[in-house]
Amino acid sequence: MAVSYTRNNLSNSSLTSIEARDLDERKRWQKKTIKARILIGVLTVICSILIVILIVTYESGHKNTECTEKQNGKAVNNNIIKFVHISDIHYDPFYDKNTPQRSFCRPQLANSTSNYTAQYGRIGCDSPIDLVENSLDAMQNVSKIENVSFILLTGDLSGHGMWTSYAGPHKVLDNIAEVSNKAHSRFPDIPIFPVVGNNDLPGHYVLPNSSDWYKELLTSWAPLILCSSCPNDMTKPTTRTVLEESFLKGGYYNASIAGGKIVLLVLNSLYWSVEVNHNPEILQKAVEQLTWLETQLEIAAMRGKKVILVSHIPAGIDTYDGKSYWFSNYTNTYVSLVAKKYSYLVTAQFFAHTHKDDFRLQLSMTETGDTQQEVPKSFVLLAPAISPVYHNNPAFRVVSLETDQLVLLDYTQYYMDLVMATEFSNPIWQLDYTFSQKYPSENKFLDANRIFELNEELINQTSNKFWKGYVFSRETNYQPEPYSRFQLFCGMRHVYKEDFNRCSEQYNVPGG
Ligand SMILES: [Zn+2]
Repeated sequence: MAVSYTRNNLSNSSLTSIEARDLDERKRWQKKTIKARILIGVLTVICSILIVILIVTYESGHKNTECTEKQNGKAVNNNIIKFVHISDIHYDPFYDKNTPQRSFCRPQLANSTSNYTAQYGRIGCDSPIDLVENSLDAMQNVSKIENVSFILLTGDLSGHGMWTSYAGPHKVLDNIAEVSNKAHSRFPDIPIFPVVGNNDLPGHYVLPNSSDWYKELLTSWAPLILCSSCPNDMTKPTTRTVLEESFLKGGYYNASIAGGKIVLLVLNSLYWSVEVNHNPEILQKAVEQLTWLETQLEIAAMRGKKVILVSHIPAGIDTYDGKSYWFSNYTNTYVSLVAKKYSYLVTAQFFAHTHKDDFRLQLSMTETGDTQQEVPKSFVLLAPAISPVYHNNPAFRVVSLETDQLVLLDYTQYYMDLVMATEFSNPIWQLDYTFSQKYPSENKFLDANRIFELNEELINQTSNKFWKGYVFSRETNYQPEPYSRFQLFCGMRHVYKEDFNRCSEQYNVPGG
């Protein structure tokens, strides 16, 4: 019994210790299982957090990339549209590639021949047909890459001096028709908005005395403006009735761009030019056009639209002689509308005429506390010319516009070095510059403040970056003409003659 007892005791005690071990073992497993579960839980939480962080980082990175693309205005983006600004083609059908510059490259005026041929144009002469074709081809190539939506053709399609005896009647209209047809054939599916220049008239600075001239112009221009060959589903910029109503009165019209968000006001600023003889009829039409402009601005304001103004001769000062381009009463009315009353509507103004890569500001007095301060309210981009007549290389621009806030972002300029093209009989168009890179700023939009900044930088004594960029661009990389730095500074800054004079008197030293 004792044994069995002992055995039983032994067996009982060994059983108890096995059970205890099992229990310990189970407890350890349970603890391990709990630890593992906690570990898995923690790892799951960490993984989830990491996944969330990764998603957030990717999304914001993606958004940042989109934003950068918008700022640079380079990528094809739904919020950006691009358009070409080309001007002063001045097609000369009398151009002869062997006739020197002193005879305006016209054999009718020449008594000698040049010692080199210039197929694509000669510095100091208007554009031969080969330059017109070549420029339009270059524009077409760039436009395909940049996905351009429309074209601004800001006047002077016809060459200078077409009213001479050898030109014969209607040469101006023939030239305009030829340039317009060539442009239309290269861009059949986007609208082209042409402007009347001082060389697109019955005489130099001679405005038509009836609507016949404008009817003739519309024969060439209506297919471009109304985009007659555009796809059927495309919304037309205007209708023939609306176009004819204003154009036949004085060569001006409106059009809808940027999906109807912007009204393009194409003006005939010749009516306000000091070079035009203002007989009572012209005077009446000059005022009539300003009234039309005011009505258009009122309508745009009511409909919550922005406005882009386009014309040939700008308001402001000719920096060569310090004279106003327009009569002061017209300048006053125009500036009070565009740069005061309705300045909040105006996205930009695109003009030309100077054949220079240049800018103009329209400032306005604003009360800040007790003091009055001149602040930039509107600005004008002046396009360089295709014609090399004023000692410049041919150039055109591609402008980018942001369609949410309806602001300009940037432009890129392309040019042809004419001396090199002539020497090597090989016309090459190349990138000249991009505005935001040439004139860098914290401000990412191309607005009046940005041009004001550029203007101020022109006379920065410790940094000549902007000045050097600006002065070599004026002739689009051809040799700069003699200039007066302060005259250029004051001319860009002031639209009114009195302000320009005051500014010029402030600075005494010429040259620069
Ligand atoms: Zn011109």
